[in-house]
Amino acid sequence: MSAAAAGEGGSETHLRTGTDRGRRSIENGKLEIDNSCILSDSLGTAMHEMSIAVELLQCVLAETARHGAVRVTQVQLTVGPMRGVVGEAMQLAWQIASENTPAAGSELEIIEPDIQARCRLCDTEFQGAVDDFLCPNCGKAEVDILAGDEILLSRLTCETAEEAPLP
Ligand SMILES: [Zn+2]
Repeated sequence: MSAAAAGEGGSETHLRTGTDRGRRSIENGKLEIDNSCILSDSLGTAMHEMSIAVELLQCVLAETARHGAVRVTQVQLTVGPMRGVVGEAMQLAWQIASENTPAAGSELEIIEPDIQARCRLCDTEFQGAVDDFLCPNCGKAEVDILAGDEILLSRLTCETAEEAPLP
């Protein structure tokens, strides 16, 4: 799903435009970037937050280029509790990773959704915790994780150059 395709009728995605001192800003209300931007987990756990920041930056810059934007002002990262991301470390890593790029100085907002799990034995869905996956119905801990381990670029706010066409 692209921002352009989502249109204004979408329940979750909307684009707002406005002119501000010769710049046009595009805000993707809740743009769930397509699968290519769900960050991969390939970099391992060394310097965990920095690895995420580097991948996040790649997604951000790709989206920025796709929208013809020149500067990134705000980035929202949705990261499930199971990822073990430390907020302060993530902020610092983002600051470092985005230096000397169009995303330099952008604000990083970190959203931490609840963990949702579904029991494989009785199909009960419940809110789990990082250290607690016992089914409240049958007491077993054989679950599928429905949410809480995701990591994705959930919103991107950027400025386009004045003449740039809207996507
Ligand atoms: Zn159960």
